[in-house]
Parts: sequence; C-alpha cells; structure tokens
Amino acid sequence: MATGTLLPQATFLDFPILSTMESSQEHNQRTRTKIVATVGPASSSPEMLARLIHAGVDVFRLNMAHGGPELQQPHVDNIRSLSERIGEPIAILADLAGPKIRLGNLSEDAITCELGAEFFFIHGAEPQAPNELTSTYAALVKELRIGDRVMLADGTVTMIVEGKKPGHARLRVVQQGVIRSRQGINLPGVKLSVPAISVTDHQHAIWAAGAGIDFVGLSFIRSPDEVRTLKDILRSCGSNARVVAKIEKREALDRLDEIVAEADAVMVARGDLGVEIDVAQMPIEQKRIIATCQRFQRPVIIATQMLDSMQESPRPTRAEATDVANAILDGADACMLSGETAIGHYPLETVVMMNRIAMATEASVQRRPPRDPEGNSGALHGITRAAVQAAGHMAFDLEAKLVFVASHSGRTALALSQHRSFVPTVGVSSSEETLRQMCLYWGVMPLRGAPATDLQGLIKHADEWACRVGFATQGDRIVIVGGSHLAAGPEDEEMAGGVHDIVLVHEVEGLASS
Ligand code: PEP
Repeated sequence: MATGTLLPQATFLDFPILSTMESSQEHNQRTRTKIVATVGPASSSPEMLARLIHAGVDVFRLNMAHGGPELQQPHVDNIRSLSERIGEPIAILADLAGPKIRLGNLSEDAITCELGAEFFFIHGAEPQAPNELTSTYAALVKELRIGDRVMLADGTVTMIVEGKKPGHARLRVVQQGVIRSRQGINLPGVKLSVPAISVTDHQHAIWAAGAGIDFVGLSFIRSPDEVRTLKDILRSCGSNARVVAKIEKREALDRLDEIVAEADAVMVARGDLGVEIDVAQMPIEQKRIIATCQRFQRPVIIATQMLDSMQESPRPTRAEATDVANAILDGADACMLSGETAIGHYPLETVVMMNRIAMATEASVQRRPPRDPEGNSGALHGITRAAVQAAGHMAFDLEAKLVFVASHSGRTALALSQHRSFVPTVGVSSSEETLRQMCLYWGVMPLRGAPATDLQGLIKHADEWACRVGFATQGDRIVIVGGSHLAAGPEDEEMAGGVHDIVLVHEVEGLASS
C-alpha cells in the first residue's frame, strides 16, 4: 500500500527516513488494495525488502514449499527489524506447501513427452528409463484409475492413464511438452487420500506459531475441517495467526461456502486452480470466490501471474495491467506477486507497477456510499455491526476525511473494510499482532494507539495524527467508532468484554502550536 515512487539509492541504515507513517504525501499515495509480495532470492536482502515496503508491500509471503524454517527465519527477522525501524506494521504470510504432489527425479534433466508416447508411473525406485516416472506421493500408482488425467509441469503436459498392474501405471501423452525433475503433478477431479497437512506442514505450522507469523496459508484445501485442524495446531502453540484458505481444487469450489465461513481469509490460487479446473472457467470462478468472500466478509487475495511477464521485462502486458485492475474492481482485498518478486529481474518495478495500477483503478471509482454487506460477518456483536454501518454512512454523508476505529482484535476494523467505505479508515490498536493483521484489510491503515476504552485519548490521537500526516485540517470532520462499556456483550471480545456502541463526529481542532 505505500508510496508508488521509486526511492533514491538507500542503504539499510538509511531507512528511518523512509517512515511512511509520518509523511502526508506518502500517506495520500497509499492504495486501499493491499499488496502481498513473495520473498525469494530476488527480494530477500534487507535493502530490497525496505524498498519493496516503501514501494507498497503490506504483506510478505514466505513460500514454505521452497524452503523450511532455516531458510525463512532470517527473512522473518529482517522484516520484523525493518518494520520496527520504520514504525509501520508489516505482516508475514507463511504459505504451507500442503499436499502438492511432485515428480521425483527423472533419469535425465529434461524429458520431451511426444504426443502419443507411453510413460509409466512406477512405485518407489529410481527411474531406469526416460519414460519411467516416480512421484513424492507413495500411494499414487495404487490410487490412479484407468481414464484419469495426469497433468505435469503446471499443466503444460497431459497424460491419460490407460493401464494398471501392481506397482505400475501406464499413461499416454495427449498434450506434449517438456518435463523436469520435481515439477508439480495435478490430477483434476481425482480424489486422493493424501493428508491435507503433512508431517512437514505440521512442523512448519509449529515453527510459524513460534516465529509470530501473522497469516498461515493452507494449500490444496478440500474441506472446512482442514482449516479447523490448522487453527487447532496454531492455537495449541499459543498462536493467534489467521488461516488463509487457498482455493485451488475443484473439491474446494464444491464446498466454497463452508470453507470461506471457516477461514479467516481466502486466496484464489490461480496457479494450481487453473490446472485443476478448465482454465476457461477460472475467471468466472475467481469472481464467484470474491463474491462469496464478500458475503462472509472475509478478505480475499488474488494470486499468481498478475504481472508475470515482469519477471523478465520492466513493463507488464496490457492484459496483466487489466487483470490487476479487474480484480480490484471485482472486490479483491489484496493482489499477490509470486515469481515476480521472488525470482524476477524487476521485483521493485513490479511492486511500483502494481501500486500504480491500483492507484489508477481506485481513483476511477466515483464517490459512493458504503455498501452494506448482506452476509454473515462472523461473531460481530449486533450493536457493533450497526455502529459500523452507521459510521460508514455518516462519514459519507458528512464528507468526513477519515473514520477512526479502535479495534482490539481487528474484527471491527475488518467489518469497516468490508463496507468498502469511500472515506479512508484508520484502525487503531495497541496490539502489534492486530495491527499486522490489519495489513491485509482493504482500505484500513493500521495505527498504533490508545486503548479502545479511552475515548478522549482516541479523539486526541485521531486529531493529532490526521493533522500531522495531512489527512485533515482544522474544521474537518472525522468519524470515530468506539465503546462506552455501557452495553457489555460477553460474546464479543473485540473490546475485551464490551461492544462498539459509540459513533462520534469530531471536528478537528488542529495541531497545537509548539
Ligand atoms: C497458486 O497455485 O496460485 C499458489 C499461489 O500456490 P503455490 O505458489 O504455492 O503453488
């Protein structure tokens, strides 16, 4: 979300001057759509991480499929130390590999699968011939059925199972291409008994809990139980990390409502989804997933190939720029970069470009009243829900400059985000964990601040901050959502026992002259 402008050359030690929380110009250049960037060799130096934050990254993604805790812990340490230096929360998403099946080692570096050629999946042993294949899933040969479609190398090669005998499945190439060791295997429509959370995933989840990771991604999810299992693992390790359900299988699409209801956030993982289902269906499924997330008021991330050509080129294609804009217009909370920032040649330029597209797209949206989500907002208290709705409408009608919400757990800030208020929202919390989780909430600027119970303190904080960063001047209106603690709602822990039952309009007094 930050600036969208290229930085002058800076060293790691220079970046106290990069603080975005203190600069009005930079605040006004923030996009409401959040940017998630994957960390990899192209982006893991502290200098590059700092530049990416400054260019607009809100959440860094660590792909656990490409390296375990030994590789990822230094990235966590660097991101946390940068975040502290610039005084701005930055979230981390640890993306578990999940039950992704891969080819084992091939007998050659690259093998061309000619149309009509025969290949064999064999059990266990190393392949002895170029047309023998193994996989990381021991039961694959046993579970394959005649007629199953096996897609290799991101769906570029397709084979059909034509024959079976114990420890051996015979396949024929129906779409030719080149395969390499350890590339992904997709089996569209095939139900495998592979566990959702492998032993390695479990170990990585325990590490994520200990490392204070904010979001944990669950790959290849098939049922809501899998979300619950991951939450149980995290909670049993004392972590409050939010679970991101990655929708990338037909089975997940078939149980979308249940999965979205159970998850804290959702990712449209188009890399695998576009292979697991007919790619022609993917745009419509993307829109359906976004609409479902809006109904359940869950943040949704659109992932994979958003600006793919920028791995090699400093400019995106027209189609990619349009893809990002359309995702935003459809209601995405966040857009994600994968290879572009992990291994691409232009990681910084890609984030700058995504920020620019988001700015241009958001600027095109006319001033309009907030939408009132119809659906299930989770465990939000009825009074809080009404207060959030009223605040959005009041801010719009009174042409307020900002809505300030004191949010202990972040849930009320998320509810405001889901209203897609035209007036920017500031989520104030004294909890660092909550502030980092707000990094994924569309249109919410996280701000460290007074506890939710101190309304006078909150007004003063809002007044000073809005003037200092240039969002408001004397006489401007700010809407503040807080709690009186008169109406206690035991089921609502958002304000540690209370509810948000106050919507207050404050006219800014301006900065006290010193
Ligand atoms: C995807 O498939 O789009 C995705 C984000 O998952 P991964 O990068 O882990 O394959």
